[in-house]
Amino acid sequence: MVRVRFAPSPTGYVHVGSLRTALYCYLYAHHHQGKYILRIEDTDQSRLVEDAVENLLREMEWTGVIHDEGPSHLDGEIKDLGDFGPYTQSHRLEIYAGYVQRLVEEEKAYACFCSKERLDGLREQGHHGYDGHCRNLSLEEAKKRIEAGENHVIRLKMPRDQELVFEDLVRGRISMNSDDSDDQVIQKSDGFPTYHLAVVVDDHLMEISHVIRGEEWLSSTPKHLVLYDYFGWERPYFAHLPNILNIHRKKLSKREGDVSVSDFRNKGYLPEALVNFLALVGWNPGDEREIMDMDEMIQSFSFERVSRSSGIFDIDKLNFINNHYIRQADNKRLFDLLPKDSLEDADEAHVLEIIELVKEKVDRVNDLLPYIEEFYKDELVVEEEALEILRESHVAELLQVFADKLGQLENYDKEGIKNAIKECQKELKIKGKQLFMPIRVGISGTMHGSDLVTTIALLGRERVIHRLDQAREVL
Ligand code: GLU
Repeated sequence: MVRVRFAPSPTGYVHVGSLRTALYCYLYAHHHQGKYILRIEDTDQSRLVEDAVENLLREMEWTGVIHDEGPSHLDGEIKDLGDFGPYTQSHRLEIYAGYVQRLVEEEKAYACFCSKERLDGLREQGHHGYDGHCRNLSLEEAKKRIEAGENHVIRLKMPRDQELVFEDLVRGRISMNSDDSDDQVIQKSDGFPTYHLAVVVDDHLMEISHVIRGEEWLSSTPKHLVLYDYFGWERPYFAHLPNILNIHRKKLSKREGDVSVSDFRNKGYLPEALVNFLALVGWNPGDEREIMDMDEMIQSFSFERVSRSSGIFDIDKLNFINNHYIRQADNKRLFDLLPKDSLEDADEAHVLEIIELVKEKVDRVNDLLPYIEEFYKDELVVEEEALEILRESHVAELLQVFADKLGQLENYDKEGIKNAIKECQKELKIKGKQLFMPIRVGISGTMHGSDLVTTIALLGRERVIHRLDQAREVL
């Protein structure tokens, strides 16, 4: 059974890089009919953020990357779903303590009493990590000092000069000599485990088959291998995912723009677009497809097509994909996503028709607003480049005749508007651009726009005639 976990530390927001990790975990698990698990890694008590888990759950629910096990919204509360809980590390402290104790008893880990000053001193002398000062204290002596209340941490006793090798599903064979790592702290002086210990214990107890995570954890993996071996546990498979860089090949950082899922959500990106886009940052389906829904991605996903080199976060591509999903989206859904302040007096059915007309033009949902607002403005503002069109000699008469015809229409609808344009063509003997451009500029002030007849219909008779009047005054 494939069991995969996403194990974020709750920082208060979800970085798009984390979302991509979660997504690959999800795709891999579903591809293999396995389980996708969410685990909260909150053992670093100094970095706790209020409501971080709540935010995390909300963001992940929005993306549609939904876990099968782990903390979940159930009956209006956050409760554990699944049989391998608790799924929050701070609720598992006794479990870790037991395993740390076991390693100490077996002399695979040891208590270290070195003071902060001593450790700082080592660093200043240019020592690479801990020097093993307490490594050979006898178990009895250590116990005595602990009983006497002496401050201490527990360190892993790394094997000496041992080749630590594993086969990474993305990066191939990875090997490291155990001497390249110092004796890591596995339990802090406050009794909390460190990441290295907790991650291995949990992955084992939760029967995780594949550890899928960012490549920043690659150098930690050999230490984890030692722990698996010391406990006599079977190792999981490992897959380390490439970084995501911006187009300047730098890390995506908060300082340089949007990095969190909520940033993109607030700007008007649709979750299916963000997810589709992120899947392709570092992976491809082996063909030219760029638009893929979740089921297609699940079908096609494999680590063979995850790239070893960094993925690039290309916002133009995200915009292209978002535009695609906006065009496909239900108009009411788009309407519900819009901030409504400027649309207070607008009739919903009318706005929905406008959205249908203009949505192909926008890359982000929020960009619909200026297009919609345009339909509620009485004033005609003529763009500089469009002025020339209005100045052509036949235009004043055309706009006058057209406005009169619209005024006389029994039914102001697309049919009627089309006829009015046709009649202008016949009576004034003008056609093509000569006919359509002045009308377009006359009703909208610009030379580009959506379908002309629909635009005129949705603007409404009064507003159109008023604008045509203004256009003639510009002349
Ligand atoms: N808690 C780690 C993080 O924040 C998880 C790393 C892992 O998946 O092992 O990314």
